[in-house]
Parts: sequence; structure tokens; C-alpha cells
Amino acid sequence: MNYPLRNIKKIFKLSLSSLYGDDEIGAITYYYFEKKLGIDKLRFALEPDSELNEKQIMRLQTDLRRLSCGEPVQYVCCVAEFCGLDFSVDSRVLIPRPETEELVQHVVNHCIKKTSIRHILDLCTGSGCIAISLAKQIHNSQIVATDYQNGILNLARQNAENNKVNIHFLLHDLLHDDFPLSNQKFDVIVSNPPYIPQRNKANLHKNVADYEPATALFVPDEDPLLFYRKIAELASLILVPGGSLFFETHDDFHPQLSQLLENHDFHQIELLKDMNDKPRFIICKK
Ligand code: GLN
Repeated sequence: MNYPLRNIKKIFKLSLSSLYGDDEIGAITYYYFEKKLGIDKLRFALEPDSELNEKQIMRLQTDLRRLSCGEPVQYVCCVAEFCGLDFSVDSRVLIPRPETEELVQHVVNHCIKKTSIRHILDLCTGSGCIAISLAKQIHNSQIVATDYQNGILNLARQNAENNKVNIHFLLHDLLHDDFPLSNQKFDVIVSNPPYIPQRNKANLHKNVADYEPATALFVPDEDPLLFYRKIAELASLILVPGGSLFFETHDDFHPQLSQLLENHDFHQIELLKDMNDKPRFIICKK
């Protein structure tokens, strides 16, 4: 079979139409070609007759099989884009989401007005996307980022190195362990913790539910604010007075989460919407 670029979209459509709509298939196709084969969208338009070589065809066949099982294109390409940067990703970590870019922007807007060094803590860092994007944009920052497994931190460290920033990555199991830097205080704590109740798993797309790490997504049905409670408890101890807490959240739980934060003596609790007009972020002060 020949593989001129002009036929590629048709081949992807045939393989993926039971999983995705046309627009999404188009986006996956261009993403795959750019990130995995180094062929950008412009070449599709300018050189529709150019053929893939044998090595590219073999790779494409293997990868199309993975994509047609529902594996996210970012895992197949081993890279996700976030805040204009590339992050290595695999099944150890969540694929960074566009909403989370907005969370980063809120923290940046808050921090760039200040001239003193900002000590920032990113809890549940995963790929390191939040911490690393903050380090790129807030030059007067010292950033600590935590997660509960060394394998996750190794990937985050690699991402920090590739993006040429300095982050102090720290192994910390938020649910079970005391925070190891108990004497250090932070001006800002940010987190996008797991927040999807287990019972909602059936409503998620196959490419999320079957491939992304369950521990990064789900919380027990009977205690959906588990991570937020642990973070609020920790923040009460290690945020400076007047320091800020930034959360990405699930829109079903805002009243309970606001109440929880009030109970831990946080104030100026604000609920902010995301680009789709969905209430998504909670910001408050100690
Ligand atoms: N901080 C990472 C992200 O926002 C990982 C979040 C998580 O694992 N829940 O993508």
C-alpha cells in the first residue's frame, strides 16, 4: 500500500471514526505527524504527493493500532504540549489539560506583581507541567513540586531538565505522610489533585478511563474532597499568613469545597470560571 500524504487523513479516519469525531481525528492526525514523524501541517498542504518512507510506514502501522485501541495520541507520541512547552508523558502521568494552563495563568498573574522571591509549592505535580510552566514565567520563584512515586518524579525531573528550569522535586505521599520540609514556608500553594468520583468513570471517554493513571484521576465516591482536605490541612501549616492557595476543581463540589476551606480558616474564597464558562478554579488566602 502507498502512503502519499494526501491519503493519510482518509487512513486515520477509517481507523479512528468509531472513537472520535472528524475534527478530533484531524487534530490527532496532524499532532501525530508533527510530533512523531516531524511532518507539519503545511507539508500536507504543499506536498500532498510526498510519500512516507518504509521506516515511517512501519512506525505508522504500529502506532495506528495503538491509536485505534483508544490510546491517547500524546502517549503514542510520548509528548504533550502545555503552556507552549513540550512535556514527556507516558502512562505514569496525567496528560496535561488546557484548563490547567488557565490555572497556571492565574498563579502567574498573582505572582508577577510581587518583587520578592516567591516560594511556590505544586502538590500532585505529575508530569511537572504546572511547576515547570510557572518556573518559566515567574523568574523570581523557588519552586518545590511533589508526588507520591519516584517513577513519576523521574519523569517530571526529565521534563524540568528538557525545559531548562530548576525545580526541587520531592517524594511525598500527601494522603499518608507528613510533609518532609516542615520548616519551610510557602507564599503560594497550587494543585490540580485527583477529583473525579469513581462512579463517574463510566462517563469518561475510553482514551481517558482506559489509559490515564487511575490514581491521578479518581477519588472515592464517599470522600471526593479527600485531596483538598489534606492540602487545606497542610496549607494551614506551611503557607505564610496572607499566602494563597490555587486549586483546579470539579464543578459538582464547589459549595462543599468552599465550606471546607472556610472551616480551615481560609478567606477571600473566589470561584473562577474556565474558558468554557464552567466554574473550575478556587483561589483563597490564609
Ligand atoms: N499536576 C498535573 C497536571 O495538572 C497532574 C495532576 C494529577 O495527577 N492529578 O496535569
